[in-house]
Amino acid sequence: MSRIPRLFVISGPSGAGKGTLVSLLRKRRPDLGLTVSATTRKPREGETPNVSYYFVTEDTFSAWVAEGAFLEHAGNYGNRYGTLWSEVNPHLKAGRSVILEIDVQGGFNVRKAFPDAVLIFIMPPSIEDLEARLRHRGTETEEQIQKRLKRAIAELELAPQYDEIVVNDDRKRACSELVALIDSYETDERN
Ligand code: 5GP
Repeated sequence: MSRIPRLFVISGPSGAGKGTLVSLLRKRRPDLGLTVSATTRKPREGETPNVSYYFVTEDTFSAWVAEGAFLEHAGNYGNRYGTLWSEVNPHLKAGRSVILEIDVQGGFNVRKAFPDAVLIFIMPPSIEDLEARLRHRGTETEEQIQKRLKRAIAELELAPQYDEIVVNDDRKRACSELVALIDSYETDERN
C-alpha cells in the first residue's frame, strides 16, 4: 500500500515520557525522519551535540531567526528552541514522514505552516505520575520542577486542540498506539 508522507508533531509536558516513546517508535519505524532542534539551552549530562540538539548561542539563534532558517521557534523556560527547515525538507522531499518532538506552542505554529500536519499529544496518566517522573529524572532543581509542573498543567489544557491524544500509561502499549496512528494517517486519506 502506498504511504502518504506526513509531518507528525509529538508534544506533551516534560516528564510525560515523549522522549522514550519517540525512541521506541524509531525502533519500530526506523524509516521515519526525526528532526534535531536547535536550542540555546546548555546540554544536560548524557546529551550529545548535533544528535540531541544543535546547542547554539543566543547570537547564532537570533541570526538563524533573521535568516528565516526556522519553520517554527519558541521560548521555553528562558531558553529558545526551534525546528530548522533544513531538518524537515530533505525528509519530505525524499517521501519520508517526519517526526517533530516539540512543545505545544511550536505544534500550533507548525499547523499554521502545514495545515495537514498531524498533532499528537502525549498525555501522562496523572499529574502525580508526571511529578514523580520529573523528580525521578533528577536533572532539575526543585524550582525548575515546580516551573515545569506549572507549565505542564497549562499544556494539558491545550491537549483537546491536538488531533490525537495518546495516554502514556504503559510505554509499550502507548508506542503501539502511536505506531498504529501514524500508519493510519499515512495510509488513509485521514485529516
Ligand atoms: P528540554 O529542555 O526538556 O529538552 O525541552 C523543553 C521543551 O522544549 C520540551 O517541551 C520540548 O519538546 C520543547 N522543544 C524541543 N525542541 C523544540 C523545538 O524545536 N521547537 C519547540 N517549539 N519546542 C521544542
